[in-house]
Amino acid sequence: MTATVHPSQSLALEPPAANTLLPNDCELPDWLKTCVLSYHDQIQGGEVPLADDKSNSEMVCRAFEFAYALHQQQYRASGEAYICHPVAVAGLLRDLGGDSAMIASGFLHDIVEDTDTPPEQLEELFGTEVRQLVEGVTKLSKLNFESKTERQAENFRRMFLAMAQDIRVIVVKLADRLHNMRTLEHLSDEKRRRIARETMEIFAPLANRLGIGRFKWELEDLSFKYLEPEAYRQMQEYVTEKRVDREARLMQVAETLRERMHEANIQVVDVSSRPKHLYSIYRKMEKQQKDFYEIYDVAAIRLIVGTNEECYRALAIVHDAFRPIPGRFKDYIGLPKPNRYQSLHTVVIGTKGKPIEVQIRTLEMHHIAEYGIAAHWKYKETGASTNTRMTADDDKFTWLRQLLEWQNDLKDAQEFLEHVKGNLFDEDV
Ligand code: MN
Repeated sequence: MTATVHPSQSLALEPPAANTLLPNDCELPDWLKTCVLSYHDQIQGGEVPLADDKSNSEMVCRAFEFAYALHQQQYRASGEAYICHPVAVAGLLRDLGGDSAMIASGFLHDIVEDTDTPPEQLEELFGTEVRQLVEGVTKLSKLNFESKTERQAENFRRMFLAMAQDIRVIVVKLADRLHNMRTLEHLSDEKRRRIARETMEIFAPLANRLGIGRFKWELEDLSFKYLEPEAYRQMQEYVTEKRVDREARLMQVAETLRERMHEANIQVVDVSSRPKHLYSIYRKMEKQQKDFYEIYDVAAIRLIVGTNEECYRALAIVHDAFRPIPGRFKDYIGLPKPNRYQSLHTVVIGTKGKPIEVQIRTLEMHHIAEYGIAAHWKYKETGASTNTRMTADDDKFTWLRQLLEWQNDLKDAQEFLEHVKGNLFDEDV
């Protein structure tokens, strides 16, 4: 057991006075307010116990207060207090189900870079794990992927090594990049384009490799917006134009499917329709050299059922209710994608003779599609192993091991880069 260090004993900084417990220059999310208030109540011998779950722990709260004190008087390009950024990053990590070390690192990730805090102090206050995560993210921020071949290959190598030691480093980095992309409008045009390009070429594919669908889509759409503003606006317009019509058609198909599943005694967890992301529609148009009006799967119906077996039974029903288009069925349950994505995909002729894509999966598959490796943290049975470190030895990261092996085998930087780009960043992953 390690002794709990009261922050005021080891912190060079005074703990905030009671009336500044909650900063007024940045709106804190509720979970963080609760954390701060119960933490201070506890310090003062109060009654409210810290829940001691992942995001409401003493360490998470201390990390926030430490970052808050150090980032004071620092501002973002938007004019906002700097602390709003680490708070947002910690929140994204919390949403992914990150552990206390990850959430704390979210608060602290810019501390070493932007303040004079030595990593040793982080270790003393928050332990080795947090120190290593923050140091890892700091190192990643210094890598430049636009440099010449030799240098670029070396930077990729460093990034993969950092990931191999602890995959959580890249997840914290992805959360950092996502929030930076969300607030990119405040930077100069040149900076915007540089960051957007790097995001599109490196971080969105990495998010995809790790299976974190929700990060990947948003990173891509935001990059698209800044790299191809005209095309982006056009896509937005296209998708909005026929929305009412499209939604009515999808609703009808969804309703029919719901009834049929019910008759067949298949447990339907959810039926929903969602428009595809703008960048994926754009890519499809480019790839197939088609007009927007010829791309039919701008929206898909997602059917979530109870079990694997029900997925296949549901598919039979979908194909019985609506005529399938030949060659468009894909079984990613039997043959999962390398990032562990699983679903059945099919395209059928829906109402009014228009094709509709249908995706069928279980709730567990859905979680993996959204959260990827992070689903392991988020939906892990409580009481299971608390080791969330995840290294390249894990079965899920064969690709990462392979990339590291390549860099040993391929001495030529050009060859290594080609392998990296061909494999890591293959869109068909
Ligand atoms: Mn940052």
